Amino acid sequence: MKYEVVVLGAGINGLATAYCLKKQGVSNLAVLEQFQLGHSQGSSHGRSRITRSTYSTPKYVELMQLVHGSLWPAWEEAAGHPLLHKNPGIFFGPGIGGYQESLRGLPEVRVEEITAQEARRRFPPFLFPDSRQVLLDHTCAVVAADRTMRFLMDQVRDHVMENCQVQSIDRGPHIFLDTTRGGIECERLVVTAGPWTSRLVPQLQANLRPAHQDVGYFEIEASSQVGHFPVWVYAGEQADDSFYGLPEFERPGVKLARHRTGPHEDDPDRSIGEVLPAEAAADLQQFVDRQWSGTARLVGYDACIYTNTCSEDFLLDHLPDDPRVVVGAGFSGHGFKFAPLTGQVLAELALTGRTSFPEFERHRQAFRFASAACW
Ligand SMILES: Cc1cc2nc3c(=O)[nH]c(=O)nc-3n(C[C@H](O)[C@H](O)[C@H](O)COP(=O)(O)OP(=O)(O)OC[C@H]3O[C@@H](n4cnc5c(N)ncnc54)[C@H](O)[C@@H]3O)c2cc1C
Repeated sequence: MKYEVVVLGAGINGLATAYCLKKQGVSNLAVLEQFQLGHSQGSSHGRSRITRSTYSTPKYVELMQLVHGSLWPAWEEAAGHPLLHKNPGIFFGPGIGGYQESLRGLPEVRVEEITAQEARRRFPPFLFPDSRQVLLDHTCAVVAADRTMRFLMDQVRDHVMENCQVQSIDRGPHIFLDTTRGGIECERLVVTAGPWTSRLVPQLQANLRPAHQDVGYFEIEASSQVGHFPVWVYAGEQADDSFYGLPEFERPGVKLARHRTGPHEDDPDRSIGEVLPAEAAADLQQFVDRQWSGTARLVGYDACIYTNTCSEDFLLDHLPDDPRVVVGAGFSGHGFKFAPLTGQVLAELALTGRTSFPEFERHRQAFRFASAACW
């Protein structure tokens, strides 16, 4: 089989790239997925994700204005239903200085500072014991993640080969992929393999660290619905002391998890249990006891996996020695909200080597292999 473009991996970034390639007129296209579409082994499953403008690096704040302003609305129009559900977002804890710093340079972004006292009044059950100021981000929303994945799957399903694991990439005169469903040739390749990326692109082994994530769902006494319970991020004293959560959405319980982005490495093929491991349950309960009033009863569990870079910057670039191969990796637990942008960037890099986004081109160096720091 021979294709103009092959996309390797059907998570949110692979599906978004395939959708954008198709919109740009590429018909001889294949998307290769080692599991079934919509599986829960990688990074893109689950009902909900946070989108926000509040970031500690101005480039992401700037890029989010583009993504919120035109790219998600275009997807919603194509889907014919909302994919983002507007919701207040709060950022608090002793570690919010970086956010405040980067937002100072962008006053037009609708994020305001309120006192902890005001925040306690507006956002039960949060207590804010170690926060003086709380950032209230009016651009936040709950991303209907599962519905977004299904929208994209419906758009590119005819091009997807499921249960087709790529076992090796041979970059000769033609790119040859040895897969569990036979040999496949292509002129251009986009690798969006998530936590498995460095197995296929060994030169990234020093840059990428897959990290398992445990997510709990809790029944609380306070209002827990979209519009009544915030999306939120707690930034502790230490960089690795960060938690986040979302209102109840399409399943019982508010979402709560630790944001694990350190050098720790997990096997993406690890086996996943049915229930929240005791250590993670104790960790989340400790957070609840410190930061929330009232009771919180565990009613659900989800396991997932990040692919961390040590700067938490994405990698969106050609292989240094081969412009036919483009890689999108290292989304470090914050890539879903960017998918309408990263999908189009990866598609355009594969087809022309440049992107149509001046906002991205301004920051492009930060996403290049050459800028990728090693752990
Ligand atoms: C618990 C959790 C919470 C998150 N919360 C947020 C949030 O609130 N906001 C936000 O913006 N982001 C969030 N993220 C991050 C976001 O979900 C990820 O950045 C994004 O899903 C990464 O998608 P991906 O397509 O790059 O990777 P994946 O979804 O992992 O997709 C990679 C695909 O490649 C396939 N593959 C790999 N190797 C092969 C092979 N050899 N052959 C064929 N197929 C292969 C895999 O099976 C997989 O389907 C969160 C992530 C997690 C885990």
